[in-house]
Amino acid sequence: SNKILAITMNPSVDISYPLDHLKIDTVNRVSSVTKTAGGKGLNVARVIHQLNEPVSTSGVLGGTIGDYISKQLNEVGLQEEFLHIPQESRNCIAILHDDGQQTEVLEAGPTLTAQQQTEFMQHFADLLNKVSLVTISGSLPQGFTTDLYAQMIEAAAKQNVKVILDSSGDSLLSGISGKNKPLLIKPNQEEIAQLVGRKLAGLSDLQTALLTEDIFTDLEWVVVSLGKDGALAKAGQEIYRVSIPKINAVNPVGSGDSTVAGLAVGINRKESIPDVLKTAMTTGMLNTMEKETGHIDPALFDEYFAKVSVEKLN
Ligand code: ATP
Repeated sequence: SNKILAITMNPSVDISYPLDHLKIDTVNRVSSVTKTAGGKGLNVARVIHQLNEPVSTSGVLGGTIGDYISKQLNEVGLQEEFLHIPQESRNCIAILHDDGQQTEVLEAGPTLTAQQQTEFMQHFADLLNKVSLVTISGSLPQGFTTDLYAQMIEAAAKQNVKVILDSSGDSLLSGISGKNKPLLIKPNQEEIAQLVGRKLAGLSDLQTALLTEDIFTDLEWVVVSLGKDGALAKAGQEIYRVSIPKINAVNPVGSGDSTVAGLAVGINRKESIPDVLKTAMTTGMLNTMEKETGHIDPALFDEYFAKVSVEKLN
């Protein structure tokens, strides 16, 4: 099989409340509400699906919120293979108010049991039989052990399935510290600084860190995304600078997830290293150009792909 599996361990229904003005300690009434299935891995899956690459989604969901997420995935033709649990999945609320301010209320989500972790790992092992590559995005649900991603990477390695890990903090560190490594990580500037334990001043500092820090040695790919400045990537022992054109940024939220989708598709299609990087920058840019999070206009793909340049630095 050449299908990609996109994992979101703690998905949500993302509720958006647009208000002219947020009034505190009184009633606010909203007339237009959007409620969409959210979570980094779901953004990844949507963009992979838009590129016509076979994809399925998994993680853990439950309750009526879980049913809503499941229904929304089915409506857009995304295969839903989550482990269904009795607890309720979470809502995440974003209030958009007062000329561009955004106030968020984020639920933690259900607290899962050790038994449910065992069930999920069995479910995940079954899904691995049907895919060639897995993306793991975002944070862990409460109750699961911090080495969950390391366990998932080990299970994938046993079945020769590639893993792209896009996380931060302890779950990222733990994910790259197990005995098997993910094929690729995609830290942004903040996450790479966290990993090496210091701020990286410029591109040459970043390049040196990628080539010399022990934590990167056994990672085949480290793609550091730099927002409007493109990316710097290590592939094997080679360093690539990826430059992108200036674009009209409408909504950059989810650009990192869209970049992961491009990396997954490029690798799954066995593209060359420069082409994988170009594919990923193109999906990142196209997401930035859209209002909707985790969404691209595939009709613009070829035009923007041609505008990305990749230069080998060493
Ligand atoms: P997020 O957390 O918002 O999803 P991120 O911090 O993980 O994103 P970024 O490095 O900000 O990731 O963006 C990923 C990619 O998206 C960039 O490498 C680039 O290709 C594209 N991108 C993001 N912001 C811009 C921008 N303002 N202009 C052009 N491209 C952008």
